Amino acid sequence: MKEFDYVILGGGCAGLSLAYELDINNKIKNKKLAIVEIREEYKRDKTWSFWKVCNHNFDDCIVKSWNNFSLNSKSGSYEVFNKTYPYQTIDSELFYNKILNKIKQNKNIEFFKDTNQLNLNNSIIFNSILPKVNYEDNLWQHFKGIEIETSKNIFDDKIFNLMDFDCEQRDQVHFFYTLPFAKNKALIETTWLSKMDDNSLKDYDAQLKKYIEESLKIKNYKISYQEQGAIPLFYPESQFEKNKINIGSAGGMTRLSTGYTFLNIQDHSKYIANNIETIQNSKTYHIGKKYEFLDNVFLNVLKKHPDQMPKIFLNMFKAPSKTVIKFLSNKSNIFEDFSIIFKMPKWTFIKNIF
Ligand SMILES: Cc1cc2nc3c(=O)[nH]c(=O)nc-3n(C[C@H](O)[C@H](O)[C@H](O)COP(=O)(O)OP(=O)(O)OC[C@H]3O[C@@H](n4cnc5c(N)ncnc54)[C@H](O)[C@@H]3O)c2cc1C
Repeated sequence: MKEFDYVILGGGCAGLSLAYELDINNKIKNKKLAIVEIREEYKRDKTWSFWKVCNHNFDDCIVKSWNNFSLNSKSGSYEVFNKTYPYQTIDSELFYNKILNKIKQNKNIEFFKDTNQLNLNNSIIFNSILPKVNYEDNLWQHFKGIEIETSKNIFDDKIFNLMDFDCEQRDQVHFFYTLPFAKNKALIETTWLSKMDDNSLKDYDAQLKKYIEESLKIKNYKISYQEQGAIPLFYPESQFEKNKINIGSAGGMTRLSTGYTFLNIQDHSKYIANNIETIQNSKTYHIGKKYEFLDNVFLNVLKKHPDQMPKIFLNMFKAPSKTVIKFLSNKSNIFEDFSIIFKMPKWTFIKNIF
């Protein structure tokens, strides 16, 4: 059996981000790190987007960045401009390659397919593998996206569409999300905020076809890439184990009201690397108790009043753009929090606090 100082379970976004952060800060010089990853190969499988509210290591993996975005509902459309915090998109393949090329040069880092050859008793374990429990009854953000290429220049690539609610809601919360990478290329996603027990919502291909052909009025296009996923809008339960620290989605890094996780993972990785020598006795990293509380109220409202959500989302974005972006990226101060809270339907939210 092999022994390592650190073991990362799951070499996805959080596992690799942490390995990279430890490596570039020389924290694996006199230590040994094992990464346990089940996948056979790394290829493009996710498109990570976020407002750049803080620095991260992956500016060279950005495929596109925007200062403007729009929101649509049946009652009209709304545009938001913000130069301070660009919205960035990262191609996961560039991210994986950058990290793998760097950490493979470090002889103290080894990859494994499973833990069979490892003695984990004396290691600090960083776990990003979600427990296999049936969470069908919880809320998820589930979606499918396709990247399409058109023969003509159709898209305005200076502005992306964050949410288009002008579509079938089926008594849930449903919107389309469009990232135009070029005038003839865009990623279009159909996104649901709902439980996972209703398979009738998962006719994603038909939803995308209808939206592209009838709403965007695009007839000729080819699909160059697709991705599908489900982000838990709840914190997976985990048993406390002294030598185990959860990271990534498994470690509560997802912002429950939005599904945004990528930048929180980067902040968490930096926190671990800065405190690695004493990490077992350091304070548990949280994205913020106030956001956990506010998001839970928000999701209670969402569960009970899905029909009101398009209006609620659009109203939120009527606050100053800098404020709403900071709030959604968990970087807001108390005054900014209140300016968002005042945009919400007060009685509906107050009732759901209790
Ligand atoms: C398609 C998609 C798009 C997303 N887009 C965004 C976005 O735009 N912005 C944003 O902020 N967030 C986004 N997210 C949410 C979040 O950023 C990602 O889910 C992110 O990948 C979470 O990182 P993670 O390390 O927790 O999980 P993962 O990246 O999924 O990593 C977990 C790793 O564990 C491995 N694994 C699983 N089981 C085992 C096992 N038994 N043994 C060994 N290895 C195992 C998996 O192969 C995987 O590599 C998206 C999620 C998905 C699914």
